[in-house]
Amino acid sequence: MIDGRDQVEEKGWWDQDVGMIGRPGPGMLPPMMESKLHNPEHTLFTVSVTPPDIKPPVPTNAPETSSSPPPPSSPSQSSTSSSPPATAPSFTPPTPDEVRQAVPHPNAYYCRKHNGWVLLVCKSSNLLPPFVPSFRKSSPHQQLPDSSRRTRTKNCISDQPYGQTNKTHHFHEYPCSIDATSLVPPYRSRSWEREENAKHARRKIEVGAAYFDNDMVQHAVEGDRKSQEETSIVIDAKEAEESTLLLDLYVCCQCSLYVAVSGVIPGVIPARYIEYLTMDKYQKPHPGGNGATSVMAAWETIITVVENLLWKGNTKPLRIGGKAFVRKLGWHSGIKMIFESLGFSYKEAQGDEPIGTLVPPSIDKTTSSGSFNRERLLRAWVEMSSYTEEFRRRYADELKDYQPHTLWVKTDSARETYQRELGAHIDQIPRSGLPDFFERAPVKVKEMWEKLGLSSTAYNTDLFHFAYFAQCRCDPRNTKDYFTAVVEVDYRHKLKAGEIDNETMIVEERSRGRFTDEDLQQAASLLGFGEANDLKLELDDSVEDNFVLQAWKDKIRRSWTALDGAMQRNQYVDALRIIAQSRGSRELIVALENEQRNGMTPEKAYSTLEVPVGVDEEMLITIFNMRIEEQPSQSDKMRDALRVIAEVTESDRLRKFLETGMDPGDIAARTKPDWPRGLNQLGNTCYLNSLLQYFYTIKDLRDAIAPLALSDDKLVFEERVDEDDLKKHRVGGRAITRSEVVRSRKFVSHLAELFRQLENSNSPAVTPSLDLAKLALVTSKDEEEDETDRGGTETSNSTDATLVDESAGGLRESPQPQRAKSESPPLSRSPSSVLGKRTRGVDKKGEGEDQATIDGASAEAPDIDMDGFVLVSKPPSPTSAGLENKPSGSDTPMTIDGDGSGDVEMQVEENVETPKAPPLPPRPKTQGSSEMMFGKQHDVAECMDNCMFQIETALLNLGAPLEVADSDKTSVVKRLFYGKMRQRLTLLEESKNHKASTHEREDHIAHLPVNVSDEQFDLYDGLSGYFDDVVDFNGAKARMEVSLIDLPPILQIQLQRVQFNRETMQAYKSHSYVKFGETIYMDRFMDDAPAEKRATAKVIQEELTQNRDRVRQLTQSKYETIDNTWTFLSKQTAMTFEEVDETFLDDLKGEKERVEQELETCRRRAGELKTQLEEVWQDQHRVEYELTAVFVHRGASPTFGHYFIYQRWLPNDPDSWFKYNDSDVSMVTKDEVLADTTGSTANPYLLVYARKDSQVIQTVQRVVPDPDIMQI
Ligand SMILES: [Zn+2]
Ligand SMILES: [Zn+2]
Ligand SMILES: [Zn+2]
Repeated sequence: MIDGRDQVEEKGWWDQDVGMIGRPGPGMLPPMMESKLHNPEHTLFTVSVTPPDIKPPVPTNAPETSSSPPPPSSPSQSSTSSSPPATAPSFTPPTPDEVRQAVPHPNAYYCRKHNGWVLLVCKSSNLLPPFVPSFRKSSPHQQLPDSSRRTRTKNCISDQPYGQTNKTHHFHEYPCSIDATSLVPPYRSRSWEREENAKHARRKIEVGAAYFDNDMVQHAVEGDRKSQEETSIVIDAKEAEESTLLLDLYVCCQCSLYVAVSGVIPGVIPARYIEYLTMDKYQKPHPGGNGATSVMAAWETIITVVENLLWKGNTKPLRIGGKAFVRKLGWHSGIKMIFESLGFSYKEAQGDEPIGTLVPPSIDKTTSSGSFNRERLLRAWVEMSSYTEEFRRRYADELKDYQPHTLWVKTDSARETYQRELGAHIDQIPRSGLPDFFERAPVKVKEMWEKLGLSSTAYNTDLFHFAYFAQCRCDPRNTKDYFTAVVEVDYRHKLKAGEIDNETMIVEERSRGRFTDEDLQQAASLLGFGEANDLKLELDDSVEDNFVLQAWKDKIRRSWTALDGAMQRNQYVDALRIIAQSRGSRELIVALENEQRNGMTPEKAYSTLEVPVGVDEEMLITIFNMRIEEQPSQSDKMRDALRVIAEVTESDRLRKFLETGMDPGDIAARTKPDWPRGLNQLGNTCYLNSLLQYFYTIKDLRDAIAPLALSDDKLVFEERVDEDDLKKHRVGGRAITRSEVVRSRKFVSHLAELFRQLENSNSPAVTPSLDLAKLALVTSKDEEEDETDRGGTETSNSTDATLVDESAGGLRESPQPQRAKSESPPLSRSPSSVLGKRTRGVDKKGEGEDQATIDGASAEAPDIDMDGFVLVSKPPSPTSAGLENKPSGSDTPMTIDGDGSGDVEMQVEENVETPKAPPLPPRPKTQGSSEMMFGKQHDVAECMDNCMFQIETALLNLGAPLEVADSDKTSVVKRLFYGKMRQRLTLLEESKNHKASTHEREDHIAHLPVNVSDEQFDLYDGLSGYFDDVVDFNGAKARMEVSLIDLPPILQIQLQRVQFNRETMQAYKSHSYVKFGETIYMDRFMDDAPAEKRATAKVIQEELTQNRDRVRQLTQSKYETIDNTWTFLSKQTAMTFEEVDETFLDDLKGEKERVEQELETCRRRAGELKTQLEEVWQDQHRVEYELTAVFVHRGASPTFGHYFIYQRWLPNDPDSWFKYNDSDVSMVTKDEVLADTTGSTANPYLLVYARKDSQVIQTVQRVVPDPDIMQI
């Protein structure tokens, strides 16, 4: 886009080690440069002088040297006395050369407002004028642009039509850097000028305000202030350079053009006297004239006096009382000053002269003072003539009838000429004045604008971008300031829908790591700097890099437990980069890169300490101490690792330990004898301890297992496993293998041993055996895979399918109905996680056993579809009423694919293929540490299933007749945990594959899943979503209605906290609070619930869902945007300026209020409906369950964290709860268990209810040693 950029420099702009060669610093575009040349409101004129055709009077005595009386036309004739003029003896009129030299320099331009001159040289040359020593002294580091690039292009503008590569010049300013004598031709101030300037400087001090008490003068003086300042600068510089004139140099970095410009070289008569005289005459015209003619008459009079002196040698003193003089000029201090500037001297009235006279200076060339006066008068004559000529032009209308004096000077505006040379002409640069609000905006905005080298009169999108990139190119070190300017300007512009379109550029630049001052401030406060933040310390140069790095590490560590930790970490990384770059600190950048590569993450923390994820706090502290002892040199790293683990697990004990060096756990109170025992952490067993403690509280389970206590004899496990017997039994709806039976018996014997210890141990905690953990966490399928990996299988039975295989793998690929709501991700497709990922289908193990046909006629094959659903021939549900009229025969059973005669097997095949499942998201890699110990991790539900499967298998009475051995009535697992439900699937729309129809199927069920992605739900709401939902069934929308036929004594409700974010393709944990109570009534979900109540509830539920959906819609998208925008904009208005479009803000505010109103309405309505819904069921309290266990996961992410369980002390003390936290068991209140967990990362993932009065839970089973015996 623009030439000469250097990517290395632009990337490493902040880095002191990246050399910036030939980078001249900030530059500016031609329009801004033009405005700097001279006051842009002043016009500069070229002045050309013709030697005047004024003849000296015919001499009476000497023909050459004496003057004759002035011609009658001359006005001065009447102003002076009628006596013969006095002529100097050595009178010589000025030569043409003297006249020409009255203009200071061929490149000098006259400014009327200053009554002065400006030297301006525009030149294309590779050779720049030399810098004066004083400039090098004051700016030793300012570099000239790379001369080779300048040589390459003669002129940015002539070489390349505007709009191409470099667009326009980029000038760099070198103030007061070159000497006027180095110009061609050299400029030298005249001796009179030097003297005059010195005098001028003194006079300025003497004069003061008292002299000009007249208002008008005061005004004129104010208008002239700039010129005074400039003048004094020139004088100062002159003094420094021994009266030479210094010029500012502007060099284009892209081409060979340079511009040299001087300050104002003051004219002979100070501008304020000129302005004063003009104003005085204009406002008080003499009789018979108007303002303009009076002004003309005055100036022409003075010019004539000078011309008479110079060309006619009229040296007679001027009588200021003369009639003409009085009429045309008058007399006051201003006029006196003017004549004195010209070298006339005032003589007081004396003798017979009642009024004073003005005595002309000597203009005798042969004396030094004479030639001095001569030169000064000639200069003044040129200046006054130029001034008058310009006045005449401006007041042409008022001077129509005026007969002007002949002027020998011609002036032309030079503006267009030098604009063209600079490239600032309107043809070369588009003009567009900034909107008013910019002009009125705080200084800052203008500053930003100027920072980019732009003037407020010429810009467009292209130029704006050029200006920015050119600044970054020529002054990479200040990239941040330029980007700040762009963003700042852009922001103001947006509010006014300005013409500059920066959006893409800003986005691109941000993606290159550009940041603004504000970004820097935000970065600092993000890391805790600033009075108002954690560190109570401003980030300035006194803060060392290492301190910044530590502050950053601290934030990173804390982020591991934050709900939005990943996002926070990205922000922290960005913040540190910004701070590092703003400090120009390569060390910090390297440290950051290093941290990103090798920094402590939770994974690294565990592997650094060489402990498995989930290891308990006590063991962690022990190992930590050990590691430090082993490798003292690594103690910092170990400590860092422990810090991360402390944060990840939100462990107060570890934090305290790190802070004090003491383990607070050492002084924990010992468990009471009649309290449950804790379980020591084995590492990597995460939720297993919770699960084992839970199993222990279930009395029937405990009793059933107790007799199978540990034996290490493999033969015992293999006893009575007869292949024929095996075939008679099914567990989880499938056949089992011999090795599974052996494995299960082993598991149960270990479990029994653990239970024995829990019952009898005197120590506060016992340790589960490694085998137990392994068998609980690893499924037979996992083992089989491991075997395969090792190149062989232990058993010959290759069809050794397992439960987990079926539920985790098999189900995922089968065309399970998918939730159709877009906001609920397909849970069954989320990556494996310990927090549960199941959707419908958890009940799958019932399949095959319990297919029930509702329509007897279709009991044969073709009506069973691939999911075990059975077609209900005539759509019976009112929800499918609209579909009843479809042409398909209503008497004939229909199959899903519409082909009644199709082969069942074929259908299954086809239908499995048809609905293409979305691709599975990548599964997170198994943690190294868990690999170390147990291989694959499964979620809680899978682990629970695996345990129950093994318990059931181990308890099989293999030798007994089938009807006795394996039935619902005898299997303790089935009896305790499994209910029966009916699923009814009604296709809501017809597709080419499916005709409208209703299918039913019955299933066993062990967990009820509740989706927790919704806010402000209670358990009933959550369950309702499961019992009546719209799902995606083979690509068609279907209503899934579920009702319970039979409920087990133990009701397990799984809160599905692991959600899947489609955008990031990552699993995350939902922390939404789901309200639950001590009691739940399941009546409303039962198959035999009163039909009329069900119908009423359904209507209410539908409206409730609508309102909630609307609330979600409003809060998650539109409203939030509006609210944020409004808040942002209104805040900005208060902070900056009032010009923010009020109408826009009002509209926005109106919209915001409308949305707020609707939200309020929807929320109120939802509340009413919820109350109504509960009223419908309020007398239905037949199926009552009481809360017995709450499984909790603490941690922000699904991959890390800590698990514990609350269990109610049943039946002894139902208001007391135990908290089982690995080895630690404590008593907590009901309030803690039922607390609103909003905002916390510790929240329930599994709730267990027990049927009221079923007595299945007996929380504590302890053999308390007799104190008497203990004493012995
Ligand atoms: Zn000027
Ligand atoms: Zn150029
Ligand atoms: Zn430049």
